[in-house]
Amino acid sequence: MAKQPKQPDSMERVVNLCKRRGLVFPSSDIYGGFRSTWDYGPLGVLLKRNVKDAWWRSMVQLRDDVVGLDSAILMHPRVWEASGHVATFSDPLVDCKQCKSRFRQDHLPESGACPNCGTKGSFTEARQFNLMFKTHVGPVEDEANAAYLRPETAQGIFVNFKNVQTTSRLKPPFGIAQVGKSFRNEITPGNFIFRTREFEQREMEFFVPPADGPKWFDYWVQARHDWYIEHGIPESSITVRPHDTDELSHYSTGTSDIEYAYPWGWGELEGIAQRTDFDLTQHAKFSGEDLNYFDQESGEHYVPHVIEPAAGADRAALAFLLSAYDEEEVNGDKRTVLRLHKRLAPIKVAVLPLSKNEQLAPITSEIASKLRPYLMIDSDVSGAIGRRYRRQDEVGTPYCVTVDFDSLEDSAVTVRERDSMQQTRIPIADVVAYLREQFD
Ligand code: ATP
Repeated sequence: MAKQPKQPDSMERVVNLCKRRGLVFPSSDIYGGFRSTWDYGPLGVLLKRNVKDAWWRSMVQLRDDVVGLDSAILMHPRVWEASGHVATFSDPLVDCKQCKSRFRQDHLPESGACPNCGTKGSFTEARQFNLMFKTHVGPVEDEANAAYLRPETAQGIFVNFKNVQTTSRLKPPFGIAQVGKSFRNEITPGNFIFRTREFEQREMEFFVPPADGPKWFDYWVQARHDWYIEHGIPESSITVRPHDTDELSHYSTGTSDIEYAYPWGWGELEGIAQRTDFDLTQHAKFSGEDLNYFDQESGEHYVPHVIEPAAGADRAALAFLLSAYDEEEVNGDKRTVLRLHKRLAPIKVAVLPLSKNEQLAPITSEIASKLRPYLMIDSDVSGAIGRRYRRQDEVGTPYCVTVDFDSLEDSAVTVRERDSMQQTRIPIADVVAYLREQFD
């Protein structure tokens, strides 16, 4: 586990790039930001959307045993009693008596010194702090109208188990996948978009016959690990860490975290949990609905067991950015390049005229408009061509198409590939098909 990302200050470089190039901004920036919340700018929204789409593609589109769902953020408050969140979704909180700063007890350094003022042994006894954001539904702010912003998307899936199973006519093993916002009143958010109070999750609940739980757990740990490798995370930066028994959540008989070597150390990217029949049993009890599955072939009634791969979209976007970020020297100049997987790159192709000369404009805009329906493109006319290539490299654009004066004669353009910087001459008539093929 010794391997850490390349440069020790890679986090600072990535955060700077994100701000400078419109990937991620501090939220409410003109008011000085707001408590570790972040906004995704024009390129960031594309990156995060691509992360979510790549997940959806592998979890839903490419499978015949998983369907999708988009459930509401606000749910019946009893849901959170049944799930155990009201009673147990809390972190141990301590205050430093010296400087009054507040920390999660399980995040304190071993030295016992306050991370803010350095005083030793200055902490109060730990108190349990519930992480759910509470609000009120309707105009009256009393307990009868209390509700929570969901702290995970999973419960929306469990409460819809019957609706989805009966309308889709699916038999276990099958899964329900969902992507959406979750909210946790984290005591110590931080490390940029790694830990925030509002974030996006990609969760899938896979319902199986009880005896098949362990088999499907192993399957999903492997599949989810491989998904990160397929999308460009080097094997040396990723590890699977099984939870110790004392770490397991109340509902779990086995959990493995997929961890990434963030610049500050190994951190969770995704958790895969064996949730057994805990959630469906609890919701059956609290709602009074029968959530058994009836297997017509065997004549058996059973509550399916659940394997849950639960991943953050923001944490994954950060890991992809950190892994992709690279600096190299090219002809005596520094080149910054984001070596993002093509599927994740915010812009797929930049269409660039060699200069602002108006003779080049018609071909440039013709190619751009032919590509636009298929691929996210950018066209940039200002500045020297070399500088424009560098601007595309640093946001990870896999291909640049350059229209030059020869194009007027030979009806061909240059296609430059980001990583190798190799240039290939392609007839204008073929360029759209050629580029579309690169993204198949
Ligand atoms: P941690 O131990 O880091 O607090 P967790 O084990 O509580 O995370 P889960 O409940 O398993 O996290 O949530 C599944 C995934 O959701 C995590 O692997 C992570 O990618 C993402 N996630 C959870 N909390 C946050 C957060 N505060 N900010 C961003 N992403 C988060």
